[in-house]
Amino acid sequence: MTLASLTGFIVLAIAAQTALWAGIVLLRHRREYASLRTRVRGNSVASSAAGSTKKPSGWDGFRPFRVERKVYEDKAHTICSFYLVPGDGAPLPPFQPGQYLTLQLEVIGPEDGEPRPVTRCYSLSDRPRPEYYRVTVKRVPAPAGCTDVPPGRISSHLHDGVQEGDQILVKAPSGPFHLRDRGLSPLALAGGGIGITPMLSMVETLLHEGSKREIWLFYGVRDGAEQVMTQRLEELAANHPNLHLLVSYSRPGEQDIAGPYRRHGRVGIDLLRITLPRQVETFYVCGPPALMESLVPDLEAWGIPPDQIHYETFGPASVKRRQRPAVTAPGEPFTVTFANSGKHLAWDPNAGSLLEFAEANGIEVNSGCRSGACGGCQTAVKEGDLDYLQPPEADVEPGTCLLCISTPKGDLTLSA
Ligand SMILES: Cc1cc2nc3c(=O)[nH]c(=O)nc-3n(C[C@H](O)[C@H](O)[C@H](O)COP(=O)(O)OP(=O)(O)OC[C@H]3O[C@@H](n4cnc5c(N)ncnc54)[C@H](O)[C@@H]3O)c2cc1C
Repeated sequence: MTLASLTGFIVLAIAAQTALWAGIVLLRHRREYASLRTRVRGNSVASSAAGSTKKPSGWDGFRPFRVERKVYEDKAHTICSFYLVPGDGAPLPPFQPGQYLTLQLEVIGPEDGEPRPVTRCYSLSDRPRPEYYRVTVKRVPAPAGCTDVPPGRISSHLHDGVQEGDQILVKAPSGPFHLRDRGLSPLALAGGGIGITPMLSMVETLLHEGSKREIWLFYGVRDGAEQVMTQRLEELAANHPNLHLLVSYSRPGEQDIAGPYRRHGRVGIDLLRITLPRQVETFYVCGPPALMESLVPDLEAWGIPPDQIHYETFGPASVKRRQRPAVTAPGEPFTVTFANSGKHLAWDPNAGSLLEFAEANGIEVNSGCRSGACGGCQTAVKEGDLDYLQPPEADVEPGTCLLCISTPKGDLTLSA
């Protein structure tokens, strides 16, 4: 073999080896790329499902549930949890932590002494479980100093009239106030009084899922007698270093000594500012009017983007930033007629909604969520047109409207 042919042979062998090696590398890369694409696709499906705001599949209308257990949660026995199991025993659909149930109960009407269905909403206070839903209800007394006014109708009935084994009608979980994502970004939850219920569900769910995100839970309560689930929350905080629990007593009793997890004072922006690290950008707030009306605007003033502040009110509390503009120009005197009550009233453009207008004028109307989701205030429209302040979440039967999210377009006659 000549030197030239030997060199040619070596060069050919090196070239063949290089080509083989390049082929193997290319093949491996293609495989890794394909598997990465599959993983990425899988992940995006998982995270969008977790962060989805889509309603979980529930059921239509009301479904019978049995009260399996009633458990008092506070020392004063004013707050009671109801464990509700479906009458048909079928597994329950999951929900988004923060959502509520709409309950319907038959109670005696104060006007005519006849039983009539009344709806109210109660936040789910536990994580989703297939065997039961739990709601936690505070007994609502008559306003201080009002001796001629009855106490809260449904909360009193649930506490005193509803026993273990009784049946209640329940609509599927719903509501826009719920955990928006399952990411790792830190999160602050502020619950005042009974407004702690949706936060309980959020905390229980995240920790059950093994989430490692930092969670600050601020729980504002008057004193230890009104505090619920004390032991459970402290247990969770002790076992999960990523849960930072801070219970604030605004009027502490003698036994409400400040210490680990407990302090004296109110939940407000000053407390949040000194406690939270800068990275916290997402806030969930639920509580009495005083808390909502101060904390939500204060968070915005602190520089938190409005779309990172999620809040829910349990009643007609108005949070300043979302006050609705008057929808009727001054000087346009619409008349709203409530046929059954026999009242013809000049519409007040600052009333907010037809529900608030009716209530302000002493007209008895059913209501629930006050946000167009539960359908509790559905009322027949006899004549006239109206505007919706937001699209209804509940199904609205033809010829009816949801008073809580509507205003008149002109003269209007309602059946109420
Ligand atoms: C989304 C959502 C979630 C909620 N989650 C919870 C929860 O988890 N736990 C909870 O406990 N609550 C929750 N609520 C509040 C709950 O729905 C009820 O509003 C609450 O239980 C009071 O209902 P009630 O029928 O007992 O009181 P109502 O009968 O509606 O009475 C309310 C108040 O009005 C007074 N009143 C009655 N008649 C008159 C009158 N003629 N004049 C003046 N005052 C009068 C009553 O004395 C009482 O103080 C939630 C509300 C919403 C909207």
